[in-house]
Amino acid sequence: MKIMLHACCGPCLLEPYDALAAEHEVRVLYANPNIHPADEYQRRRDTLLAYAAESSIPLDVLPYEPNEWSAAVAGVEDDPSQRCPRCFELRLGIAARHAKAEGFDAVATTLTVSPYQDPEAIREAGESACFDAGVAFLVTDFRDRYADATRRSRELGMYRQNYCGCRFSQKEAEAEREERRRRRREG
Ligand code: SF4
Repeated sequence: MKIMLHACCGPCLLEPYDALAAEHEVRVLYANPNIHPADEYQRRRDTLLAYAAESSIPLDVLPYEPNEWSAAVAGVEDDPSQRCPRCFELRLGIAARHAKAEGFDAVATTLTVSPYQDPEAIREAGESACFDAGVAFLVTDFRDRYADATRRSRELGMYRQNYCGCRFSQKEAEAEREERRRRRREG
């Protein structure tokens, strides 16, 4: 099968790419309008580009369109249970239309390597987006490879972000870190 693999960042690409490329023709796509701010988007993209170039991995990069993401999550920004599914569907929809235009059979995503993402929400979003575009969605679960992805990305000296991507997750992650610091101070 020809698979367009949506990638959120370099560290998350490592294991899913190897697993899929062992059995399929795979091209990687970086399309993540959720990432904020722009220099963070560029840093994640450039980390991915460098690894793809070193490893001779085919990679497409689409233009950064953060306004598309803002429109997709309008009204549910403060509720991750609604915001994240919309974010998945937007990104996987972009990947699905790109896959169709490029003559690919299916879309997969590196998002399922993360234990912090909801695989069922990713599956629902991917199937809906791919149905609309007329390609298949390859359901994956790479979470058992997360430890290897973490180890390899550290060994490679890759940039590893400390929040999911959007401006809300940046604030939520900082609040969680502050809460952990407060608990440590209080013993
Ligand atoms: S937390 Fe992550 S998945 Fe959820 S909306 Fe923000 S960037 Fe998207």
